[in-house]
Amino acid sequence: MKLFKTAATLQEHLQKLKKQGLKIGFVPTMGALHNGHIALMKECKKKSDIVVCSIFVNPTQFNDKKDFEKYPITIEKDIFLLETNETDILFLPDVDEVYKEGIHQLQHFDIGYLEKILEGKYRPGHFQGVCNVVVRLLKCVQPDVIFLGKKDYQQYLVLKTMMDKLFPDIQIIAVNIQREKSGLAMSSRNARLSINARKDAAVIYKKLLFIKRNIFKKDFNLLKQDVAEDLLSHGFERIDYIELCDASTLLSTQPVKTKKMIILVAAFIEGVRLIDNLLL
Ligand code: AMP
Repeated sequence: MKLFKTAATLQEHLQKLKKQGLKIGFVPTMGALHNGHIALMKECKKKSDIVVCSIFVNPTQFNDKKDFEKYPITIEKDIFLLETNETDILFLPDVDEVYKEGIHQLQHFDIGYLEKILEGKYRPGHFQGVCNVVVRLLKCVQPDVIFLGKKDYQQYLVLKTMMDKLFPDIQIIAVNIQREKSGLAMSSRNARLSINARKDAAVIYKKLLFIKRNIFKKDFNLLKQDVAEDLLSHGFERIDYIELCDASTLLSTQPVKTKKMIILVAAFIEGVRLIDNLLL
């Protein structure tokens, strides 16, 4: 695996590979890698010739400064994982390399109502930060295809909206959520949980499955109430949302048999904000 810290050296290397007609696949991450990320690398290897991964903890997407400061950093382990999982290139820039004009000179992206709902509502500015970093990374890597996880489903739709306008030639592939045996969605933030909280947090997935089983049998508000009570009795201290949405727009919906729907949850346990979802 080759490691680049500057956009210029990365681009020089990628130009040579592109001249050979090789297909470049790209997996952007914030590091603290786990098997959810590795699933993206594997999918990338299957569908492209060269796997480029970036690790960059993007300061502009954290609306909560403490969350940014506490974000786990495990770079040596990450490099080992990437080397043993078929990654060809790691781009590891620092903040000044990505934000040459500083982190306060952000571009504004029109992502419409997606910015105001769900994650956008609870994390103001988050998706502008995500778009800013992904645009910068895409300009450096200029991949043929990008791989995104459905774990961050709204992020996937936001980036799709932005890329359809600005990078229509780059293909987007969304990869299914990877879970622990307990059902807990893999996440870098899980590393901040105690062993007990990790066990308790698996209740999110159980309750997503519970909603799925009962979606056409019981009133959604009653299901939601039941789920909220169960989360709170399993150590969750705050629930931001439990929503049923149209999977293609993320607009709130009533249960409709002919519609592709998704249930999304965001909740705090031991001060750590977890998100999960289930496509119906
Ligand atoms: P992050 O490092 O958290 O910014 O995530 C980098 C990419 O990995 C994003 O596209 C995420 O959606 C994806 N990802 C993170 N966790 C998972 C998971 N458990 N399953 C599938 N994809 C994931």
